[in-house]
Amino acid sequence: MLGNFVRTTYKVNRRHFHKSRQLNEEFENPIFRTFRILRDDIQLKNRPKNRIKSQDRSFPRHADIVIVGGGAIGSSIAYWLKEKSNYDGVKVVVLEKDPTYKKCSTALSVGGLRQQFSLAENIQMSLYGAEFLRTLKKRFGPDADVNFHPHGYLLLANEEGAPLLEDNNKLQRELGAVNVLLTKEKLKERFPYMDVSDVALGCLGLEKEGWFDPWSLLTLLKNGAKQLGAQYVTGEAVDFLFEEKSSIMVQGVDQGTYEGTNTLVVKLPNEDKCREIKFALCIIAAGCESAEVAKLARIGIGPGMLSIPLPIEKRKRYVYSFNCQGNPPSINTPMVIDHSGAYFRRDGLGGSFIAGRSPDPENEPPTDNMDVDYSYFDETVWPLIAKRVPAFNAVKVTGAWSGFYEYNTFDMNGIIGPHPYFLNMYIASGFSGHGIQQAPAVGRAVAELILDGRFQTIDLTRLGFDRLIVDKPMYEVGII
Ligand SMILES: Cc1cc2nc3c(=O)[nH]c(=O)nc-3n(C[C@H](O)[C@H](O)[C@H](O)COP(=O)(O)OP(=O)(O)OC[C@H]3O[C@@H](n4cnc5c(N)ncnc54)[C@H](O)[C@@H]3O)c2cc1C
Repeated sequence: MLGNFVRTTYKVNRRHFHKSRQLNEEFENPIFRTFRILRDDIQLKNRPKNRIKSQDRSFPRHADIVIVGGGAIGSSIAYWLKEKSNYDGVKVVVLEKDPTYKKCSTALSVGGLRQQFSLAENIQMSLYGAEFLRTLKKRFGPDADVNFHPHGYLLLANEEGAPLLEDNNKLQRELGAVNVLLTKEKLKERFPYMDVSDVALGCLGLEKEGWFDPWSLLTLLKNGAKQLGAQYVTGEAVDFLFEEKSSIMVQGVDQGTYEGTNTLVVKLPNEDKCREIKFALCIIAAGCESAEVAKLARIGIGPGMLSIPLPIEKRKRYVYSFNCQGNPPSINTPMVIDHSGAYFRRDGLGGSFIAGRSPDPENEPPTDNMDVDYSYFDETVWPLIAKRVPAFNAVKVTGAWSGFYEYNTFDMNGIIGPHPYFLNMYIASGFSGHGIQQAPAVGRAVAELILDGRFQTIDLTRLGFDRLIVDKPMYEVGII
C-alpha cells in the first residue's frame, strides 16, 4: 500500500519535478523530498575526488597556501600540492592577475627542453621535465599532449669553449642524460647543411631533449590543479598586512617579536575596494614581477635580512619566425645553439624556423613595452645563423614576438624555497630562460618542502634564498 503510494506520488511529482523545485521547494512532497536528498547524497559520495569543481566557489577569505602567479611555475606548485596532499588535504588558492596570460613568460616561451646545463640541479630538473612529459597521459588522461618534438639540442663550441662543453657533457651523462660529443668531422657528416669551419666540438642530445608547446603544458597543469580542488582567483596581489608575532625560533627562550604577515591584499578587476586573503603560507611565483611582489612583503626594503632584494628583473627577448626560401635543413634538425649565442630550430614544416639571440648585457632593450626590434634580426641574428647554415642566406621573416625572461641577476638560476626571515613565505622564481622545462620539477620540489618538510627527490637546497645572504652564487654557464 505504502509502496503504491510512493510510486504514484513519485510518478506525479516527476512530471513537475523541475518546475516545482524551481518554483518552491517548500511545497515538495515530503516523500519525494526524501528521495531527492538521498539521491543527491549518493551522487555527492560517488563524485570522483578529482572532479571537485572549484571555479564556482566565491572569493576565498582564507587559504592554507596562497600562490601569487598562475603561470607554469605557480600552476605546477598548485598541482603538486593538491596531488601530494591527497586532493582535499590542503586549501590552495592561486592568484593570477591576467587569466589570458598574454604577457607572461610561459605563453611566450619557445618551449625548449635540454639537459645541456652545467649545474647538477638544472640537469636533474630537466631530466625530470622529460620524464613528466613522457608520462603525461598517465597523469592527465589520454588526450594530454604537449606536442613534444624529440629532435634534441645541438650545442656548438669553438676552440675556447670546447673543454667546458666536454666537462659539462661528462656531468650530464653521469646524471642520466643521453648526449654525445661530435667532432668537427662528425658534425660535417651528420649535418651537411651546416658550415662548421669555426666549430671545434658539438654536443647533441640523443634522447630526452627537444621542444614542446608551453601553452599546452600550462593548460594541463592549471586544469589538473583545478580538478584536484585548487581555486584560481583572478586578481592582483597589491599588498601584505603585517602584525607583530612572537618569535618561535628557539623553544622556551623568549626571542621577542618580529613583524610577520598572514594577510594578502588583493585587487579584483572591476572592484574599487580591495579584498583580503588570510593565509598560513604564501608562495611568490610571479615570474618577472616576483621582485615587486617580494617588495610588498618588505623583501628588499626592510631592515636586516629583509634588506636583500629578490634579484629578479625583466629582460626582453625577441623571437623571429622565418621561412627558408632555398633548400631548408632537414626535418630532424635539432635546436641548434651556436657558440655566438644565436639559436634556431624548426617550427612546423615547409621550411619554417624560429631564431633568436639574447642581447649583449650592455645593449639590453627597454622593458616598458613589448615592441619587437626587427633590425636586431637583420643586423645581429640573421648574419650569425646564415653563417652557420648557408641556406639561411635566403629567408623571409614571417613574424616575431617578444617576451620577458624572469632574469636572476645574481647567478641566472631559479630561487626556490623559503625566505629566511619569514616563517611562511616561499619563493619560486628567477629561472632566467629555462623555467618552462623545470616547472614540473620545481612544483614537485616545493610541494615536498612544504608537505614533507624536506626535498625528497631532487635536492635543491643550494638554490635557496640563503645563497644570496652568504653571497654564494650558483652560476649556470648554459644560459641562452
Ligand atoms: C622568449 C622566451 C623564450 C623562452 N624559452 C624557454 C625555453 O626554451 N625553455 C625553457 O625552459 N624556458 C624558456 N623560457 C623561460 C620560461 O618561459 C619561464 O622561465 C617560465 O615560463 C616562467 O614561468 P613563471 O610561472 O615563473 O612565470 P610567468 O609565466 O610569467 O607567470 C607569472 C604569472 O604571475 C602573474 N603575476 C605577476 N604579478 C602578479 C601579482 N601581483 N598578482 C597576481 N599575479 C601576478 C603574471 O600575470 C603571470 O601570469 C623562455 C622565456 C621567454 C620569454
